[in-house]
Amino acid sequence: MLLLLIHMKIVILLGAPGSGKGTMAERLSSQDPVFRHLSSGSMLREAVSNQTRAGRLAEGAMKRGELVSDELIAEMIKDTILGIEGECTLLLDGFPRTVAQAAILDQMIESCGAQLWAVVWLDVDEEDLVDRIVGRRVCLGCGAGYHIETILPEKDGVCDLCGEALVARKDDNLETIRHRLSVYKASTMPLIDLYRSRGLLRRVMSAGAINETVELVKNALG
Ligand code: AMP
Repeated sequence: MLLLLIHMKIVILLGAPGSGKGTMAERLSSQDPVFRHLSSGSMLREAVSNQTRAGRLAEGAMKRGELVSDELIAEMIKDTILGIEGECTLLLDGFPRTVAQAAILDQMIESCGAQLWAVVWLDVDEEDLVDRIVGRRVCLGCGAGYHIETILPEKDGVCDLCGEALVARKDDNLETIRHRLSVYKASTMPLIDLYRSRGLLRRVMSAGAINETVELVKNALG
């Protein structure tokens, strides 16, 4: 399995909640099968809805808009990353989120022979972030993301991809959003300087239309 993993490039999508990490990863992976999308938040939401051990441990912190423990997230992500076979560019959405998680990722990359290719920082004004999060809807079935003004499904309230219902996430309420943004500043923003110092950071201003931002991300990945 190790030989197969040598051809895995890893791209970290870094940015605040609502910056469009999931949307970018969904668009890129639907356009080109070389891209695979791994969302730590979606994995956790699935674990919570299945009430697995990890889900039960994560549930409270997620509701409060706090981070789950580095150990729990590392355990979950590690199995998934090490289980990926074949050549691909893995788009990490939501992981790493702390300096400790970045170190854990470095170890995983070393042990599976993958390459950390780039860190794309999706930079968005804070007030835009709040609007994006408040209007966000996700599919209960496949987790695809929508927005009540900017990413509309063909049929109101129904996912284009799997036909399941679209709902607001439990943590997408105004009170939790402010807290999540402050957690982002305190715990995740230090990664910007970390990856900049390693020459991996690509800053993308994510202010315009989604398609334009997708093109900017593709250019950043060169
Ligand atoms: P997201 O879908 O990326 O916004 O994540 C939703 C929630 O899942 C976050 O607010 C955290 O509670 C939790 N979470 C997701 N990824 C991580 C991570 N890498 N480390 C800690 N908590 C995470």
